[in-house]
Order: sequence, then structure tokens, then C-alpha cells
Amino acid sequence: TAHTPGTDPHPPTTGSLRQVQAARVTIKDLNKSYGSNHVLKGIDLDVAPGEVVCLIGPSGSGKSTLLRCVNLLETPNSGTVEVGEFTVTDPDVDIDTMRRHVGMVFQQFNLFPHLTVMENCTVAQIKVLKRGKAEAQKVARRQLRRVGLGELADRYPDQLSGGQQQRVAIARALSMAPQLMLFDEPTSALDPETVGEVLAIMRQLARDGMTMLVVTHEMGFAREVADRVVFMDGGIVVEEGRAADVITDPQQPRTQDFLRRVL
Ligand code: ADP
Ligand code: MG
Repeated sequence: TAHTPGTDPHPPTTGSLRQVQAARVTIKDLNKSYGSNHVLKGIDLDVAPGEVVCLIGPSGSGKSTLLRCVNLLETPNSGTVEVGEFTVTDPDVDIDTMRRHVGMVFQQFNLFPHLTVMENCTVAQIKVLKRGKAEAQKVARRQLRRVGLGELADRYPDQLSGGQQQRVAIARALSMAPQLMLFDEPTSALDPETVGEVLAIMRQLARDGMTMLVVTHEMGFAREVADRVVFMDGGIVVEEGRAADVITDPQQPRTQDFLRRVL
């Protein structure tokens, strides 16, 4: 369904484990260069609280750079990014506090290999949020159950499948109570048979009202879950709109060409 600003496109389901305080994201005229390589050329993007936006586009179009500018893993050259109450691009922003509100999930999981699943999900809560160990474990246990891994808390990452590892990475991010979740190709490194379990968790998260910015090649997921699809090429937003419209009836030749190749 189309997203109407000001309304919640995914009201929390009954029995939802947590009421999310979802952030709005506002990106204005964002520019990022690496040396002479102008990678983001004036990106404008507004994501409403609880909205799910999928970013699609060819390799090298700037999708990862855009996500990384949202939580300041990269510093933009110009333009503004706001996440909830934080003006991320304000030089005086408290980066650590801002990052606590933004969860990020990467293609390669990035779990700590020498820590158990439980420890992976508690270390930042204890160090960054200053939660006590018992409280952190309680939160982690709840989030691990939420992603269907309540039984595997004592395992190490290498004892899990790729799909399970990615679900741990999601539970770890959720344990910080984020107001925004960034996903950068979260299923691209997975065996085909475990892709579905990760997408199912993301679908549930969307229903629970999380604001989500998702780089993905999973067009089925984008069509079904995204409120909006943004097609990027060469560092600009070429086309955006309702997921079903952009994917099934793209208007721009570059979008048509891209979708012909991936669908
Ligand atoms: P996408 O995620 O759409 O594949 P990226 O955002 O990763 O695209 O990359 C966009 C462009 O920026 C590419 O030309 C890439 O080589 C360049 N780039 C990305 N990260 C860096 C970096 N850390 N240093 C230099 N160039 C980079
Ligand atoms: Mg990328």
C-alpha cells in the first residue's frame, strides 16, 4: 500500500515484543566524493517514521556510501542528514549518542568470532548503554527469541549457518533499541536456502513499525515489504515511487535496463 506521510504504514502487530520509537530520516542535497570520484551527487531522500525504503541500483551507484553517510561511517562533503532528533551532519553532533539510535546490518554479518551469540548481543549494551549484565542479557534473550534463536545463545558464530549468523546480527542491533535500521545487502552473502529466514525477520520488523533503509537485490522482498523503492545510478536518484510501480512499471530507461538484468 502507498505510504501516506503522517500515518504509520505498519502498525505494530498485537503481541509485538516492543513498541518501536521510529525515527524520520531527512537527507538533503547530500554530496560525497572520494578524491575526484564524485560518488553521491545531491541526494534528497525523506523516510517517514515506520517507513521501509529499499535502495536498488547497479554496483558502484553509491548505495552503500549513502547508507554509510546516514550514520557517519563516511563523512559527507556537503548537504544535511537528520535522523530523528539528530542532525547527523552538524559538526557538533554527539556521534556516539546518535549511533546508539541507528542499527546497521552488513552483508558480512560482522559478528565477533571469539564471543558467544549472547556475548555478541550484550557487549555494546554493557559498554555503550552502561546496562548491567543481567539487564543486557534479558534484553538480548528477548531479541534472540524474536529472531527465532533463543536456543542458540551459547553457541559461537562459526557454529551457526550464515542465515543464523545474520539473524544474530539483527538481534544484536535490536538489543540497542534503535530508532532506525540500515541494511546493506543483508542476504547477498547467504546460501539461497537461508535467505528466506532473514527476509522473514526483516518483514516482521517492518510490521513492528521500524524505520528501515534497505539496500537489496531481492526484488520480491522490495515489492512485498517496501513502501517505496529508490533506484540509484551514478550517484543520483534516477527514479523512486511505490515499490510495485517502480519494479513492475519503471519509467526511466536506466531503471528499465537495470530491472531487465536483475529480474
Ligand atoms: P554500491 O554500494 O552502490 O555498489 P558504493 O557506495 O560502494 O556503491 O561505491 C560507489 C563508488 O564509490 C564506487 O566508485 C566505489 O569505488 C567508490 N568508493 C566506495 N567506498 C570507497 C572508499 N572507501 N574509498 C574510495 N572509493 C570508494
Ligand atoms: Mg554496496
